[in-house]
Amino acid sequence: MKNNTAIDASTLCQTCGMCCDGTLFSYARIYPEELKKVKSQGFNVKRKDRRTTVFTFPCHHLVDNKCSIYADRPKKCSGYFCRLTKQVIRGDKTLEVALEDVQETKADSEWLRENAPTLKGDHKKNLNLRDYLNDYLKVAQELADAKQFPDSHIYYSVRAFEYLKKIDLNFREVTLLQKYANLLQTIHFKQQGNHG
Ligand code: SF4
Ligand code: SF4
Repeated sequence: MKNNTAIDASTLCQTCGMCCDGTLFSYARIYPEELKKVKSQGFNVKRKDRRTTVFTFPCHHLVDNKCSIYADRPKKCSGYFCRLTKQVIRGDKTLEVALEDVQETKADSEWLRENAPTLKGDHKKNLNLRDYLNDYLKVAQELADAKQFPDSHIYYSVRAFEYLKKIDLNFREVTLLQKYANLLQTIHFKQQGNHG
């Protein structure tokens, strides 16, 4: 029988779904012994390299934030616990606080999607925030290095940094976080240089 905190973690996941909808991951590895089964379940399967096969996110088995093949989901899914679920299971965080963390992160990602500055073309349709923040960083860092970073983008960059910080704190390690920290530092110093 599940204990209370395990039930809380399960409730949490049913209102979140961010590890399945493409927010946290682009892909997950498939173990060789279940490759045939995963293919037959209609996952979007890709070869990553000679030894690794993955399925990509968003996963279309996520329906209304619930896994529609829960009992039969791949091993990588059943074995995954983000930082937040681990905290809830250990009893370090209540379900109520964890639910607030999830809602806050979702609201932030929605804001970043809706307010994403245009990089090229009409990118806001079906914008993948993970990919976008990667692309945005490259352009932004170049502009900042050249002392051409527009003031109108500063707020967006700060919000992106704060969002990545929350993902890193509550869900999983984010390598992009340090790069956004560097970007904000560059903007700050170049601005000081401009005023000096
Ligand atoms: S990101 Fe964490 S809380 Fe959200 S569904 Fe995945 S494991 Fe559950
Ligand atoms: S199979 Fe289920 S648990 Fe795994 S990614 Fe898809 S929706 Fe999430």
